[in-house]
Amino acid sequence: MLEEPMRDYNGRRDFRKTPEPRGGRRRPRREAIFVIQEHAASTHHYDFRLEVDGVLKSWAVPKGPSTDPRVKRLAVPTEDHPLDYADFEGVIPAGEYGGGTVLVWDRGPYDNLNEAGGRKVPMAAAIANGHAVFRLHGQKLRGGWALQRIGSDDANWLLVKMRDDDADARRRPTSTEPCSVISGRTLAEIGKAADG
Ligand code: MN
Repeated sequence: MLEEPMRDYNGRRDFRKTPEPRGGRRRPRREAIFVIQEHAASTHHYDFRLEVDGVLKSWAVPKGPSTDPRVKRLAVPTEDHPLDYADFEGVIPAGEYGGGTVLVWDRGPYDNLNEAGGRKVPMAAAIANGHAVFRLHGQKLRGGWALQRIGSDDANWLLVKMRDDDADARRRPTSTEPCSVISGRTLAEIGKAADG
């Protein structure tokens, strides 16, 4: 089977050296999921991923998400990741692509909120059009969010909280809720476990 969508992902990684999962398209889970992974690589960032048509569409968000609707966070598209990546937490060895510690910062199902003329718009089409809205059901992030492409190429997007009951200008979840939602560990604890 041709794994076209994972060519970039697989081509950048040496699976004899990295503990990350090998890429492939998989039958979708019952509910589409999102995952946000904190990634302490050469530059610290958060990877925001949405399950779309059997892969995880991905953006690197340098400052991480903000629950303040007035704050727009830069989101830079990265290569599609396999669905299994939503379970990946650990250390990518130094010198490998994305070398550094990965923590599953938030995860859960999401709802596609995209509509045009009273009809549902598939998430893939919304992303292709440069504007996607969705409702997150995570442990840390909830409610409506938008990804908006800016400029004429695909280089830069913005991740923004929509104005709803889950918007909160005072919350700072990336600071106050740093632990993994799958293991309860901190970045430092994940790093230490890999040293052992
Ligand atoms: Mn990353």
